[in-house]
Amino acid sequence: MAKVKRTGRQVKDPADAGRKYCLHPTPQQAERLGNWGHTCRAVWNVALEQRLYVYTQRRKNLRADEQCGYLTQARHDLEWIADLPSQVPQQVLRHLDQAYQNFWNPEHPAAFPRFKKRTSRLTIPFPGQAVRVTKLNRTWACVRIPKLGEVKFRLTRPLGGRIKNAVIRRDATGRWYVSFGVHTSRTAAPPNGQPAVGVDFGVKQAAYLSDETEPRLMPQTLTKGEQRRLAGLERRRERQIREAKRHRGGKYSNRLQRTLRAIAERQARQARRRSDFTHKLTTDLAKSHGLVAIEDLRVKQMTRSARGTQSEPGAHVSQKAGLNRAVRDNTPGERRRQLAYKCPAYGSELVLVPPARTSQTCGACNLWDPASRINRDAFACTGCGHTDDADHNASVLILSRAFPDQVRTASAAGHCGAQHASTGQARPAMPRPCTGRTREPLNPSSAAAQPSSDTEGYKESWQVIAGRMSKNKGVSGLPRDTPKLGP
Ligand SMILES: [Zn+2]
Repeated sequence: MAKVKRTGRQVKDPADAGRKYCLHPTPQQAERLGNWGHTCRAVWNVALEQRLYVYTQRRKNLRADEQCGYLTQARHDLEWIADLPSQVPQQVLRHLDQAYQNFWNPEHPAAFPRFKKRTSRLTIPFPGQAVRVTKLNRTWACVRIPKLGEVKFRLTRPLGGRIKNAVIRRDATGRWYVSFGVHTSRTAAPPNGQPAVGVDFGVKQAAYLSDETEPRLMPQTLTKGEQRRLAGLERRRERQIREAKRHRGGKYSNRLQRTLRAIAERQARQARRRSDFTHKLTTDLAKSHGLVAIEDLRVKQMTRSARGTQSEPGAHVSQKAGLNRAVRDNTPGERRRQLAYKCPAYGSELVLVPPARTSQTCGACNLWDPASRINRDAFACTGCGHTDDADHNASVLILSRAFPDQVRTASAAGHCGAQHASTGQARPAMPRPCTGRTREPLNPSSAAAQPSSDTEGYKESWQVIAGRMSKNKGVSGLPRDTPKLGP
């Protein structure tokens, strides 16, 4: 399948799966990559600033094609931009195009593209032609990067396709990763013939399946000791920031940097454990069911803050914040994204059902009555007397909504909430090893560069904007080790 760009050009064999590996650069390579990452950030920021400037002055949208011209000029003038391999900043501009495209797309939740802070995650994008991967042995491979040479990475799974793009990233803990978008030319699997299931993603319980009698619980992402340590580190961070403001004019000390790294380390650990659970859960759902029904939730609206405005402050702000955190801990949006690509790969079908009133409607007789929800955990229908765990009742209802025309399935039969509602124990997890058959709906640069016709009057060069930025906003857009720009 070929994707059509807005210019009418067809992208041949687009990337349809992603592969992420731990990168192991040498200290010299890591330093250079770090500089490149900040340069990419600067290119993004200056390009965004230029687009904003042109739009406010001339009501015109600059696109990557045109900005590449200014880029060439900037590479000629500025040594630190010229240090980047030439394809990298072009790729950054294409990503900026994509960010605008997503913002304009009413179906896409993306907000307007933002400026990248010094503390943001560093990202260095490459087109597929710029990199080459060589396998060294069973566990190691290396990727050839222009101007840098071979960089080793752990080959934890086969690439399984042709490389279409590559991104090198550094996270908050200083670890390096390389991700490849690959074209696997795999098509959807034939239907797997397994039973249908409704799933309710809860707050207290990670997931409740309509054909199970116990909820799936996410294990604690941090142990008791780790939680204590994290809380202590966060208190230390607050104290050190206070001290920095009082005595050093806000300049961060080395000890504070160390504290921030330690906090980032623990939060990254937490994120890895959560992601592990989410992948195992979604793989299991897609693999052992022919149809997976979930609620079509709007997570962003759901987790909106209760803070309100200054004139009209909201109520129960911290309670809502806690609830929001719990909802986001369960990453419902990420689960849905994973199911959307895993279901076709395992011969299953994903159905999104309307979420209205699933918590207050009876799964047996379909009667809606808020009084049926007697408390947070239990459900007792005021019409037919059916009792159930509230989340299980919701999952049965979700399944029935996936078949609006059919007679209700009897998944609720023989189920009694009172027996297990309070056991609180996880059913033995059924993680099946990931076989690498998944397909990812990667959307690489459908950049849709639209050539704009009239930019003759516009002459401001990159350097002028870069100079203006460094005057107005300090050195926010520039890498640390670069000389200050002239006007
Ligand atoms: Zn009922």
